[in-house]
Amino acid sequence: MSSDRAGVEKEVAFIGLGKMGLPMASNLLAKGFTVTGFDLSAQARDEFVTRGGRSADSARAAAAGHKVIITMLPTSAIVMDCLIGSGDAVADVPAGALVIDMSSSVPGDTLKLGAELEKRGISLVDAPVSGGVTRAISGQLAIMAGSEHVDRALPYLEAMGSRIFRTGKLGSGHVMKVLNNYVSAAGALATMEALILGRDFGLDEELITVILNASTGRNNTTERKVKEFILSKSWASGFEMALMSKDVSIAAALSREMGLNLEMLAETEKAWQQATALLQQGADHTEIYRYVDQVSHARK
Ligand code: NAD
Repeated sequence: MSSDRAGVEKEVAFIGLGKMGLPMASNLLAKGFTVTGFDLSAQARDEFVTRGGRSADSARAAAAGHKVIITMLPTSAIVMDCLIGSGDAVADVPAGALVIDMSSSVPGDTLKLGAELEKRGISLVDAPVSGGVTRAISGQLAIMAGSEHVDRALPYLEAMGSRIFRTGKLGSGHVMKVLNNYVSAAGALATMEALILGRDFGLDEELITVILNASTGRNNTTERKVKEFILSKSWASGFEMALMSKDVSIAAALSREMGLNLEMLAETEKAWQQATALLQQGADHTEIYRYVDQVSHARK
């Protein structure tokens, strides 16, 4: 594998070419990296090849011989299984390699994964992202990176994000990510309740949104989601409800492990879990509006 004069590996393996991973890996290509990708979906692999990437038939084949392996997979369980479980993706990875997990994973699992990888001489950085598909495409993600090895990950992270934050020890990036998504999920829930309450009173929902955005109630949902994905009923933000629910539940589990009684976090977890169970599989997280609309009109 070739590296440039500054020791930056130019060849990277990227596992998970989904809604986020495909544009992120494409930005690595655009910055001159050679990227070998793998995804369970043949369609995703083919799309990556049309963008100039290389594709492999398994995660293990993609990672083989690489010193930098990036994962962007749905859950921690899948990351663990893919890297050190049945996928055994690190089997043919040289000692001294670096794994960067950019998925929104469970911090406790990240520590276990870090310990397992360390036994094989492989370092781990947790570097989850925020900004959604739009900023994954534009290469302007916010990235929160934990572990003592962040410096080595910077050349790759800078190809995908415009703001890279060092959060501290291994796992701290994954903690920060679920803190962010808890606040985002709670804000979305409050926004849906306000819209439905106002609408039922007789206010226009677009006007409600315009006024919230000119006032102190504005948040990421009012600014970027209500008009585009909710009032238009496109439900096409590209972030699945099940993934948002997963993130809130990771935050809630962390609070319980730490012995903290956080009431709003517990309520937010319950609402997102119920919404995910009630709506169809694959529902977009903006469909939380449909859930709030249903439950708010259900008679006790
Ligand atoms: P996605 O479902 O679109 O993509 C995940 C991809 O992983 C899919 O293409 C799937 O085929 C593939 N995959 C699943 N198991 C695999 C395996 N064992 N080996 C190889 N590929 C496998 O999900 P996404 O929206 O891209 O999210 C990925 C991660 O990023 C999640 O942890 C999510 O919480 C986080 N995230 C998503 C967004 C967003 O807006 N979509 C924003 C920030 C963070």
